[in-house]
Amino acid sequence: MKPFLLVLSSPSGGGKTSIARSLLRARDDLAYSVSATTRPRREGEQEGVDYHFLSREEFERRVAAGEFLEWATYAGNLYGTLRAEIDRIFGRGRTAVLDVEIEGARQIRASFPNSLHLFVLPPSADVLVGRLAGRNTEPAAVIRERIARAADELGAVAEYDYALVNQDLVIAVAQVAAILDAEARRVSRQEGLMPFIERLRREVSAAALRIGAD
Ligand code: 5GP
Repeated sequence: MKPFLLVLSSPSGGGKTSIARSLLRARDDLAYSVSATTRPRREGEQEGVDYHFLSREEFERRVAAGEFLEWATYAGNLYGTLRAEIDRIFGRGRTAVLDVEIEGARQIRASFPNSLHLFVLPPSADVLVGRLAGRNTEPAAVIRERIARAADELGAVAEYDYALVNQDLVIAVAQVAAILDAEARRVSRQEGLMPFIERLRREVSAAALRIGAD
């Protein structure tokens, strides 16, 4: 399959990060695009693994230098995908998995029309709120802002190619894997299909000429 951008979006607490992690463990045709952010590092997060943690000045300098493929503001912090990150992943022949909010997803769609966009839905508001509050990593005001934004974000589902409900992580991961397997059969994503078809056509034409010739 030709490498492409797989964009995962969901309201904060929707579960896309868990889905991305499981998928990446299970498949070696994918690689995670590590975003840059000005958000403070949460406990347990590692520089260069979860995010590239940048100061606002450094982030803005890199925006001005054209280093971002897309970027957006979320809950008062800046988040963005570095072009170098995608070049590195494509250079290894892999499909890039991006965890981005809806503004960034729109920018990606505009510059990469063959990107694949998946929206991960929480099964209910209670689950969404429970996951966010249960993280215990953010002050109440930040959690409130994220929940309020979730309501807006849900309105963007129609812009996506696929939507799935993350009730059970194992099932959700299997659904994303099934979508990827179907996409691999999409004519426009198949590498080597056209040379194969050319050869097949030549062989079929030759076979047609042979029929009745002997
Ligand atoms: P969090 O602070 O919970 O890690 O992420 C907050 C939001 O920022 C999530 O909706 C996440 O998808 C989004 N996000 C993470 N990385 C990027 C990025 O590179 N670009 C954009 N546009 N959004 C991102």
